[in-house]
Amino acid sequence: MIYCVEDEKNIRELLIYTLETTGFSARGMANSKELKDALKEELPDLILLDIMLPGLDGVQVAQRIRQTANTPIIMLTAKSDTTDVVKGLEAGADDYVVKPFEVVELMARIKARLRTLGMGASSDGAAAELPEFLHCGILEMNRVRHTAKKNGIDLHLTPMEFELLYVLAVHEDEPLSRTSLLKQVWGYDDGGDAKLVNVHVQRLRMKVESNPEKPQIVQTVRGIGYKFVAPTE
Ligand code: CA
Repeated sequence: MIYCVEDEKNIRELLIYTLETTGFSARGMANSKELKDALKEELPDLILLDIMLPGLDGVQVAQRIRQTANTPIIMLTAKSDTTDVVKGLEAGADDYVVKPFEVVELMARIKARLRTLGMGASSDGAAAELPEFLHCGILEMNRVRHTAKKNGIDLHLTPMEFELLYVLAVHEDEPLSRTSLLKQVWGYDDGGDAKLVNVHVQRLRMKVESNPEKPQIVQTVRGIGYKFVAPTE
């Protein structure tokens, strides 16, 4: 089930129509109040969330969702709203699509996010070969459950934060570029926005690092990107 939160009726109906013809179940909500009521009935597999909404905007809504749920959120945004995109990602959104969107692009983003959750078939053989469990120093990761524990304490990562940490950890001590992370973590074959990586790294550091100001586990490699260093204490 996919929830589409969009106040513009024609866009909302287009989203629902597109999703349903692709084989998904979808429900539309025009504002945060309707979403709140719908979330009480059923937690969807994914939420498409317009940033510009009457009442609470998409950024505020994303923050509230993240207080209780890790449901994937794809923000819908107008082209010029770069600041809002960053705020949305900081609030916990996983990805975003710019309006007016290409249906093919939107569906690719949705499928990539559901694949991260292990839903929907992955024809990607490489992903299947990756280990289910990783032990890196005092960090343990379980890729089936999307759980990461540091010293035995659950870090409460969202599936995307988990996937980012996991991909970095699989390549321990090896610097990975933002382009490579966009491909491996988000499933962008080409393109994608470096902001996605940067903001997710910030979010991840808040949860995983002892001192996010001086990251030891997810380190910045100047001119390249990021690398994972296994924590020992
Ligand atoms: Ca709107």
